[in-house]
Amino acid sequence: MNAIDALNKPRWDDHDWSPLPPLTRDVDADVCVIGLGGTGLSCISEALKLGAKSVIGIDAVDVAAGAAGRNGGLLLAGPVDFHHDAVEKHGVERTLAIHALTERELETIQQETPGVVRITGSLRIAESREELADCEQQFAAMRADGLRVEHYDGPEGRGLLFPHDAVFHPLKRARLLATSVRARGAQLFGQTIARSIEPGRVRTDSGTITARHVIVCVDGKLEWLFPELLAEVRTARLQMLATEPQLPIKFPRPVSMRYGFDYWQQLEDGTVLLGGGRDKFEASEWTTDDAPEAKLQEYLEKRLREKLGVTASITHRWAASVAFTDSGLPIARELGGGVFVVGAYSGTGNLVGAVCGRGAAQLALTGKNSLLAPFQD
Ligand SMILES: Cc1cc2nc3c(=O)[nH]c(=O)nc-3n(C[C@H](O)[C@H](O)[C@H](O)COP(=O)(O)OP(=O)(O)OC[C@H]3O[C@@H](n4cnc5c(N)ncnc54)[C@H](O)[C@@H]3O)c2cc1C
Repeated sequence: MNAIDALNKPRWDDHDWSPLPPLTRDVDADVCVIGLGGTGLSCISEALKLGAKSVIGIDAVDVAAGAAGRNGGLLLAGPVDFHHDAVEKHGVERTLAIHALTERELETIQQETPGVVRITGSLRIAESREELADCEQQFAAMRADGLRVEHYDGPEGRGLLFPHDAVFHPLKRARLLATSVRARGAQLFGQTIARSIEPGRVRTDSGTITARHVIVCVDGKLEWLFPELLAEVRTARLQMLATEPQLPIKFPRPVSMRYGFDYWQQLEDGTVLLGGGRDKFEASEWTTDDAPEAKLQEYLEKRLREKLGVTASITHRWAASVAFTDSGLPIARELGGGVFVVGAYSGTGNLVGAVCGRGAAQLALTGKNSLLAPFQD
């Protein structure tokens, strides 16, 4: 890997930010949230909305230090599986419920943090005849269930257009939300690792947090915190690269290709961000290592040049961990004694994670389970 690769810095880290202070003493709170990615911050925002008197959030590193600040920035409605596959696995009612919750979450993100979302629509492009036939099945199932989808035939290829999907700046979104919840009274701490989590108490190296509700919002490496989840979740590395701006804009909408294994978007300044290839390197990508790796980066670079036709030089290469489940549904439950856990979004947690974060706050503070129920078996 060259010097750029060694930095493992996401393209999104393009603006000023003052890191959070570490926790330095014992503290009490109504709610303690562990993990300050998009999920944890949505959880905190919801807890404040629901009237929690005191909310503390901690992160081992800082706001959106993990996948939440290092992802592709696609905001795609629905569960991780394509609609027809999800219906087959989970039934139409549950699939539509998840779809509705994620669509509503997109609106909430726009209202909560104006200026970070662009409603572009998104494309699913087929790379083979077989994939095009699968697109047809998805089209038929979505239309039958009243969901918005169009056929697409354009410079990117043939497939489907989802007119209401969007893209966002994930790191800016998380930092804006962190600033907003702090202004509303939440106390946030960085460089503060939860060393032990038990009902009512979270121990860190620099202080113990006593809290009525403890909500863990961690996606990748969730099994490190709860080894009892080892049978259900598995961590993988996802990798990306970004280029210098290339104009004119070639990709006005984000694109998923090869059944979603490759994905890209082009920013308004012309920068292209491309991720994927995990399925090509399964043996090395089921890992908790979150540094970019040469072979997969070579694959991405080849796709960038040959498939996307982008010639601009590469400026960033990065990676992060996410957790997968066999069902494609996240972990979203109370483990007992007021400890809640949400995570493992199988690679698409920008909207689902935020819904689950809010759902965990709702369940903890009100006992209502309407946001989490569609995700639970
Ligand atoms: C390259 C890549 C591309 C992706 N593209 C997309 C996409 O386009 N669209 C989409 O929807 N999803 C995408 N995803 C998935 C999405 O990024 C994640 O599912 C989502 O961001 C998870 O957010 P989170 O807040 O739940 O968890 P995380 O981002 O994992 O945040 C958890 C936080 O918890 C902290 N933490 C962990 N352990 C501890 C501890 N012991 N004590 C204190 N803090 C701790 C971490 O430092 C981290 O900041 C992508 C992921 C990657 C890696």
